[in-house]
Amino acid sequence: MISNLTLSLSPSEAFSEINLKHKVREELGLKETDELHILLQKRSIDSRQRSIKVNVSLQAFVNEPLKEELIAVTYQQVAEKKKEVVIIGAGPAGLFAALRCLELGLKPIIFERGKDVKNRRRDLAKLNKEQLVNPESNYCFGEGGAGTYSDGKLYTRSSKRGDVVKILKSLVHHGADKTILVDAHPHIGTNKLPKIIENIRQTILDFGGEIHFNSKLVDVTIDKEKIQSINVLNLNTEQSTTYNAQYLILATGHSARDIYQLLNDKNIAIEAKPFAMGVRIEHPQEMIDSIQYHCNIKQLGDVREFLPAASYSLVQQVNGKGVYSFCMCPGGIIAPCATAQEEVVTNGWSPSKRNNPYANSGIVVGLDATDWSAFSSHKNLAALELQKQLEHKAWIAGGKTQTAPAQRLLDFIENKTSGTLPSCSYQPGITPVNMEALLGNTMGKALKEGFKSFGAKMKGYLTNEAVIVGVESRTSTPVRIPRDRETCQHIQIKGLYPCGEGAGYAGGIVSAAMDGERCVDEIFKIPTL
Ligand SMILES: Cc1cc2nc3c(=O)[nH]c(=O)nc-3n(C[C@H](O)[C@H](O)[C@H](O)COP(=O)(O)OP(=O)(O)OC[C@H]3O[C@@H](n4cnc5c(N)ncnc54)[C@H](O)[C@@H]3O)c2cc1C
Repeated sequence: MISNLTLSLSPSEAFSEINLKHKVREELGLKETDELHILLQKRSIDSRQRSIKVNVSLQAFVNEPLKEELIAVTYQQVAEKKKEVVIIGAGPAGLFAALRCLELGLKPIIFERGKDVKNRRRDLAKLNKEQLVNPESNYCFGEGGAGTYSDGKLYTRSSKRGDVVKILKSLVHHGADKTILVDAHPHIGTNKLPKIIENIRQTILDFGGEIHFNSKLVDVTIDKEKIQSINVLNLNTEQSTTYNAQYLILATGHSARDIYQLLNDKNIAIEAKPFAMGVRIEHPQEMIDSIQYHCNIKQLGDVREFLPAASYSLVQQVNGKGVYSFCMCPGGIIAPCATAQEEVVTNGWSPSKRNNPYANSGIVVGLDATDWSAFSSHKNLAALELQKQLEHKAWIAGGKTQTAPAQRLLDFIENKTSGTLPSCSYQPGITPVNMEALLGNTMGKALKEGFKSFGAKMKGYLTNEAVIVGVESRTSTPVRIPRDRETCQHIQIKGLYPCGEGAGYAGGIVSAAMDGERCVDEIFKIPTL
């Protein structure tokens, strides 16, 4: 017998396999001799009331084997295939473009400026401990892209842009936990992502694709408005090589400023686009748990061990500007995400268990052309110049190292200097500054009002135990590489496919992965010459 059940359970029933089985047995009135297998289908926490509930949908297989829908992935051997797709960047967009090539029988050739995940880790350690930024290998550049050392949140609002479940299934096929197919807000965690990325690399290599690390795109050759070839610099040998490229997927992410410059210099259309900047805020995780679970978390007893670290999502309009939380990392760490030495950039990550004592989130202000009018002489790169300027100012304010400028939250709102700062997860360290002076009037004022409204929504959020750390500047790209809506090709250059977050067509791991697939689907439609 197979029964479909939807249950409203306590956290200890929902998150413990033994307790869940016991509950289902009770619900179905099973005998002790009945064999039971459970297939979870959906799981979401409802903490709106004082008594926290978990809504669970599942299939119960009684006295019959579990029938799990297989994760169908059919890759073809492409080593000898004629139609090659050159992909720049091994972030989620580039890697999922390559996997899609294998499904469709096209040969993917990836060039990635950074290192493989293992070697990349050493550069991250240097960044955290010695404050040294390797401009080719950091939190943004290297195998897996910006998503590798992240929280690995997998929810997206872009479900219309592609098949979200297919991306999640592919991640499970490459080693992610099956719960990402079930949880309402799935995430993977920094400790588990690198292995999954390595497995994806292995699939690409096993099925005849190519991946070249330490290989940076430095030039493109265009003839008659069609892409002809690319120049790739090997960062180990410093040799530059020309490769033919009939189909070029440009998935270089939002931090590849040299790529925007290259396109601009070659008169290949790019345009400034709205983006957002602000700060990262950090609270003690227990404080956020208590607010979100409506209790003093310390007094919750046994239930606590079954509850995940709580998150939040906040948004407020302030004088026509959107102020919102971005990339919230429960139980996480604030990361130094600069890609050059003379800038300070923050973002956040969490391990799979989200068990660090801090909760951090970007709190950012939406910016548009009026905000970068002072940089209008830079034309298409004006928004990028505003972003660069703020990151450089943060570097100066922090003392010209990766130490980040910071201020206690209430002090920021009340214009007071923070004499001391609370302990903070940001490893290179933080130093007290006047954050409003750093951020400027527009962002400073909007953030203050935004925080006040967040304090009204989440009682206890406004506290001097929270610290704001600057600057959160790489929420999305300040430049779009425009492409045709239908064919995904650049509006001027045939064969060039601007893709993923750096081109302005994605904002997160899953949407970037879906965009990678979409570009390959369009290339596949073009008949082979
Ligand atoms: C610390 C951190 C935490 C994050 N947390 C989350 C999260 O929890 N959930 C989520 O959805 N998103 C998260 N993000 C955002 C997410 O990582 C990005 O949206 C996503 O990675 C974008 O994918 P992409 O493939 O378009 O670009 P990227 O991931 O940026 O990949 C671009 C790749 O191109 C390479 N490249 C750049 N220039 C060149 C060149 N000239 N030649 C060759 N290669 C080049 C880069 O080295 C990089 O590997 C996080 C980002 C960071 C930095």
